Amino acid sequence: MTRITTISTFALTAVAILSSTAAYAEGDLNLYSSRHYDTDERLYSDFTDQTGITINRIEGNADELIARIEAEGRNSPADVLLTVDTSRLERAKNAGVLQSIDSAVLEDRIPANLQDSDNQWFGFSQRARIIFYDKANVTEPPMDYLSLADPKYKGMVCHRSSSNVYGQTLLSSIIENHGEEAAREWAQGMVDNFARDPEGGDTDQLRALVSGECDISVSNTYYFARAVRTDVSGLSSDLDKIGWVFPAQDAEGAHMNLSGAGVAANAPNRDNAIKFLEYLASDQAQQYFSAGNDEYPAVPSVERSESVKSLGEFKSDTVNLSDVAKNLPTAQKIFNEVGWE
Ligand code: FE
Repeated sequence: MTRITTISTFALTAVAILSSTAAYAEGDLNLYSSRHYDTDERLYSDFTDQTGITINRIEGNADELIARIEAEGRNSPADVLLTVDTSRLERAKNAGVLQSIDSAVLEDRIPANLQDSDNQWFGFSQRARIIFYDKANVTEPPMDYLSLADPKYKGMVCHRSSSNVYGQTLLSSIIENHGEEAAREWAQGMVDNFARDPEGGDTDQLRALVSGECDISVSNTYYFARAVRTDVSGLSSDLDKIGWVFPAQDAEGAHMNLSGAGVAANAPNRDNAIKFLEYLASDQAQQYFSAGNDEYPAVPSVERSESVKSLGEFKSDTVNLSDVAKNLPTAQKIFNEVGWE
């Protein structure tokens, strides 16, 4: 009995190893991705059509993927890490799971402020984090981020939890643009003005304007643009009730975050990984980012999709996101100090 059990366990192990080897054939591209948008399928199939390189996708939560690459160490099959938000890309860099690369294509196509200072990650699409408000209740909306903390908006403002990267990066940018003291005052003022304890995602912040729970909220632009383009329940039918402000147009401009990628530290298919990043900067891939997920292309010459255009022209903050990301530990400290859950 014992003997049989041992053999079958061995057989199972062998099958597991074989199948995992088969999943990572040499000459492919092993893509670790935390982007979860259906529309990204076209990005991957077009790359394969153009290059003949098969993409093996490992999808998951960004922090789990970073931990997995770390745990796999030198033997990691990861070639590229693709994720959203500067905070996460910086976390990946600090964890040592990315490597610096040289690419004339990326240097030429991707603006300098959307690249890591050591070329360990590159931004491929942008999203603005802006102010939305209930037009019926708010006649004088805040025109910049700091004004969200004005006591006149007490009990009116909603934002998601500080455990989410979007708020972490926004606060980090406020530290960069206005200094740590002003950033702490702002965070305290936000907490004082909250209409409810932070909860939900960005779409929920917009829905709360429609339901009347909040008068002013903050969201990434693509959640609103998506509700323009498709039917988002509890939101799309009431979009005319919502006004929006691209903040700080007389100052630094609207805070922009990004979706980006880097080559994994021990990439077995390094050349393919660089090819994939260069593909993401192509006109075609850039248009998919904009049309498929309502984001702003990172490459300035690429045209925006209709849903994105409907939000209007604005001035964006061009602060270097690599510098912003260095403020993340301070941002976390401030969130804890002011009790922003
Ligand atoms: Fe998002």
